[in-house]
Amino acid sequence: MPFGKKTLRDVDVFGKKVLVRVDFNVPIDEFGNIEDDTRIRSSLPTIEYLLDAKAKVILMSHLGRPKGKRDPKFSLAPVAKRLSRYLNREVKLAPACVGEDVKKMVQELKEGEVLLLENLRFNPGEENKDEEFAKELASYGEVYINDAFGTCHRKHSSVYLVPKFLKPAVMGFLLEKEITYFERAMVNPQRPVVAIIGGAKVSSKLGILKNLLRRVDKLFVGGAMAFTFIKAMGYPVGNSLVEHELLETARDIIDVAKKLGVKFYLPVDFVVGTEISDQTPTKVVPWQEIPEGWMGLDIGPVSVSLLKEVISDAQTIIWNGPMGVFELDRFKDGTYETAKMLAQSSALTIAGGGDTDHAIHKAGVYNAIDFVSTGGGAFLELLEGKTLPCIEVLDDKA
Ligand code: AMP
Repeated sequence: MPFGKKTLRDVDVFGKKVLVRVDFNVPIDEFGNIEDDTRIRSSLPTIEYLLDAKAKVILMSHLGRPKGKRDPKFSLAPVAKRLSRYLNREVKLAPACVGEDVKKMVQELKEGEVLLLENLRFNPGEENKDEEFAKELASYGEVYINDAFGTCHRKHSSVYLVPKFLKPAVMGFLLEKEITYFERAMVNPQRPVVAIIGGAKVSSKLGILKNLLRRVDKLFVGGAMAFTFIKAMGYPVGNSLVEHELLETARDIIDVAKKLGVKFYLPVDFVVGTEISDQTPTKVVPWQEIPEGWMGLDIGPVSVSLLKEVISDAQTIIWNGPMGVFELDRFKDGTYETAKMLAQSSALTIAGGGDTDHAIHKAGVYNAIDFVSTGGGAFLELLEGKTLPCIEVLDDKA
């Protein structure tokens, strides 16, 4: 019973018109090719379950940021094509997401057929929380399913308003899986719990650090964030990225960790360079010895060994944020090694947040990690301890 909400298993969908909000916001290149279809594949269990139940399936999603206007660059046509291949049946693409033509296509839909509405964000009503727009979408179905985890932190019409107008409104299998794994890691975890947090800025991860301190046994901070902590302890960090206005906050975090008995770790060595480029000279230095004019761009090999020891007794590991500038070849190792460590660990391993997901794919260990969240911002908000408004509006189990 994820978050005490009903799921697809709790409602009758047999032969019914089922309106499903999916997250098909996939990266598409300039030639219209889908670069990564994980999000499409992740929604297949829900869609296939509905088709087995002879439902009439109406799918809706956004793609990119067309800002309320039709823009062929953001059409869901490539998605419809890829989805038909996976489902082995035709997926009809509606010419828009609302309007007379769409209504007609919905009415004519037969059992076991799939209709994909065109990009919701072609209509300003999606992001403006337009009630009339939401009511029209709601009128297309007899049951509402939310399977768009990546959008659950945004109060947009199709995820926030439609489930108020169309009942029953329940979670799909992807949403259920996301929340179930999150609860296993953060609500009732097997201990010790280790959190590994990296990325560029302490400021953007402050809420996460504060929330995690109350929940985990060990916290490892890597990425550029580490330099604000090292600077806060009074050591020079050369030209490494530092948020000077957060030095006091960094000291507070270390103090709170001590008070709560959370073991707090920083990298102990870094790969440094003189600029963020693959052409820069590099060397590995202990954390106390970052030279003037150089910047830390990845964690070093001793830090990787340290992290291995830190997670060796873990029963649960949560990871968000790269350990270095993993986009560049010379600074990818710390992040890739972290991904591989999680893949080899016998703990429950959960990772998420845009860049982390990308790094795990690039490190080639996606399938060896227990769960990689499909939601960037939504996953981060859960880590911050926030509730997701679009899950709140779904039907309670009780
Ligand atoms: P975030 O979105 O906060 O998770 O940050 C991800 C970004 O942090 C990536 O683009 C990394 O290149 C960047 N990053 C990680 N470590 C460093 C570092 N040591 N110096 C500069 N940028 C970094």
